[in-house]
Amino acid sequence: MYDGDFAVRWMAAVAVAVDREAGRLTELDSAIGDADHGANLRRGFTAVAEALAKEPPATPGGVLAAAGRRLISTVGGASGPLYGTLLRRAGKELGEEPAVDREGLARALAAGVAAVGRLGGAVVGDKTMLDALTPAVAALSESFAAARSAAEEGARATVPLRARKGRASYLGERSIGHQDPGATSSALLFAALEEVAE
Ligand code: ADP
Ligand code: MG
Ligand code: MG
Repeated sequence: MYDGDFAVRWMAAVAVAVDREAGRLTELDSAIGDADHGANLRRGFTAVAEALAKEPPATPGGVLAAAGRRLISTVGGASGPLYGTLLRRAGKELGEEPAVDREGLARALAAGVAAVGRLGGAVVGDKTMLDALTPAVAALSESFAAARSAAEEGARATVPLRARKGRASYLGERSIGHQDPGATSSALLFAALEEVAE
């Protein structure tokens, strides 16, 4: 079972991964966006980790909801409200349960991913974070490793796609041939989850 402390460690691991990969995320965003994805997420997840270290909510749902709120308040770019919605909605779905199993986490994150789709109006294949999040959450009912690998595969699969949502869509055909930054950072979320779940 996965408790509040586990959720805090997951968010802290995401902050470390985002900090380490910020340069690469920004480089990807400089090809098809405005070169700020690494900085946006670094600012957001650093604030999340600090807030959770100071005042950790007792339940996994409380942790994810607090993390989501922090992202929304600290990240100006599209990714802040989108990741914020993912975590806030997942947290709400978990409610006040003191601990959750992998299946429960998969169900909560699926609700979060559906909320991201409603907020941004994107579907799988539009070359966004959903291309990694959707298969990852589906694979989470199998294992943490399967979720991580599905997210990475989903991110790589954005390379030949033409962007239909977000800034990259302004480039039209010229967005083809580049990996989506948001799908790439989504894979970091699931790599961090596998890491702390082991
Ligand atoms: P901004 O584009 O505002 O600078 P970021 O660079 O932080 O924000 O995030 C860009 C990422 O956000 C994209 O790579 C994409 O994955 C994701 N994104 C943008 N718009 C949408 C949307 N409508 N639905 C889902 N994801 C989106
Ligand atoms: Mg950007
Ligand atoms: Mg921006």
